[in-house]
Amino acid sequence: LPKVQSNLSHLLDLVGSGKESLIFMKKRIKRLTAQWALAAQRLERKLGGTRRDTEKILIHIGFLTEETGDVFSPRVLKGGPLGEMVQWADILAVLYVLGHGLRITVSLKELQSLLQPGVPPGRGNCPLTVPLPFDLIYTDYHGLQQMKQHMGLSFRKYRCRIRVIDTFGTEPAYNHEEYATLHGYRTNWGYWNLNPKQFMTMFPHTPDNSFMGFVSEELNETEKQLIRGSKASNMAVVYGKEPGIWKGKEKFLSILNKYMEIHGTVYYESQRPPEVPAFVKNHGLLPQPEFQQLLRKAKLFIGFGFPYEGPAPLEAIANGCIFLQSRFSPPHSSLNHEFFRGKPTSREVFSQHPYAENFIGKPHVWTVDYNNSEEFEAAIKTIMRTQVDPYLPYEYTCEGMLERIHAYIQHQEWARNASVAPGAWPPGYSLQAWLAEAGRACTDACLDHGLVCEPSFFPFLNSQDAFRKLRVPCDSTESEMNHLYPAFAQPGQECYLQKDPLLFSCAGASTKYRRLCPCRDFRKGQVALCQACL
Ligand code: UDP
Repeated sequence: LPKVQSNLSHLLDLVGSGKESLIFMKKRIKRLTAQWALAAQRLERKLGGTRRDTEKILIHIGFLTEETGDVFSPRVLKGGPLGEMVQWADILAVLYVLGHGLRITVSLKELQSLLQPGVPPGRGNCPLTVPLPFDLIYTDYHGLQQMKQHMGLSFRKYRCRIRVIDTFGTEPAYNHEEYATLHGYRTNWGYWNLNPKQFMTMFPHTPDNSFMGFVSEELNETEKQLIRGSKASNMAVVYGKEPGIWKGKEKFLSILNKYMEIHGTVYYESQRPPEVPAFVKNHGLLPQPEFQQLLRKAKLFIGFGFPYEGPAPLEAIANGCIFLQSRFSPPHSSLNHEFFRGKPTSREVFSQHPYAENFIGKPHVWTVDYNNSEEFEAAIKTIMRTQVDPYLPYEYTCEGMLERIHAYIQHQEWARNASVAPGAWPPGYSLQAWLAEAGRACTDACLDHGLVCEPSFFPFLNSQDAFRKLRVPCDSTESEMNHLYPAFAQPGQECYLQKDPLLFSCAGASTKYRRLCPCRDFRKGQVALCQACL
């Protein structure tokens, strides 16, 4: 049995060096070592003697390879996106702490040599499939492409061992190559025909994918006490490191400036960025620990609509700030916003940070209509008077992330072993079936009942018998490929079954159908896991 590792110094050697992105990740791992160690001990106690396998794991971070251009590394110190780096650092830490054997690469050459250790070439046009020296591979969309090119026939055979870190998620309709092509689910990314659970997201978007997440630093009681005493009720920090997000925000800034001292962490080279008004105290891009310190003093963390769904609001709330953000009406999506265009998801985003809005909410998170200045101003005044304690959802603590990823590695056998029956994990008895209202997706229909959609239970609902049990009056039943099926169409009293299991999807809705939804319970603060899942 593998022991959990609480000494991360060997992991730091495995990460390699030379790129700013890797330096950022190593600093983060080092800083969080004590938290990981504590969480590992707690998890060990919680799991008792349950069986654990040691896996040989390859981690190939495709977006940091030179072949994809690696546009991220040079921007680490210049205000570029850091969310991906935060997440990868935490993934490395989790897999290492859980005691698995890791190989980490950000180089295509190295990837190639790791995947083909001295195997004889195939004869003529009859290439050999080579044994894969890894049980699991964590990569991203870029890495996936690189592996496919390199592995040839072996790719099909071993793709079930791959996990794709995919920030915004990939819905089944976009993943299914034939269906996406036929029905215009056109994207730059989809079409891989993987099990949708192999895609792992940054936030729990749709349960069709696995929720990977990341962690935020946790405060102990003494630190929480200190924060309570040192908050400046009139200090605000603006969310965003790039000057662009300040454009056109003069009106809000001047309202905010009437009540609070405004701080920013906008990157600049020599001069103050012209987008940032003179009354703002701009610190420039701060190293992560100093950014945390700034959040500890501030009362308000305020978002102006971009970036979407990053780690910073969770860090702010964990450090006792209130997060104020704008409601998007109409919602942003791949249909109407450049940022989401080409992403393999139809998800509608109703605010800058839907997780903060829906999973945390008041008093920590205020989502208001910024077009209404009175509403905006009133929110600021109320926030200044509102007392909140630092808060971090369990699923974003080190222990929560360890628990979740441990469960995935232990139980996500469907991909590696085709004979595993549906309902083996999560256990089938946690299924609760609901017939959604017309136009309602299963993701939402389950949430309406305080439950979460569980795609692995769809096979249990895909039968005439399931319709009968839910007292759905089917005049006729047909089986077709449609990501909304199984479903009931009211006008003709027609029932539809799903023909291709790869298309089972929690996401997706149409006013034409009432969908049959497989829901399950979840652990408080750990939406990815059912009550009986550990
Ligand atoms: N961050 C930082 N220095 C700053 C501002 C932010 O190190 O001055 C960090 C912050 O701690 C967070 C990370 O940047 O973990 C990513 O933040 P964000 O939510 O802005 O997401 P991004 O758009 O960078 O992916």
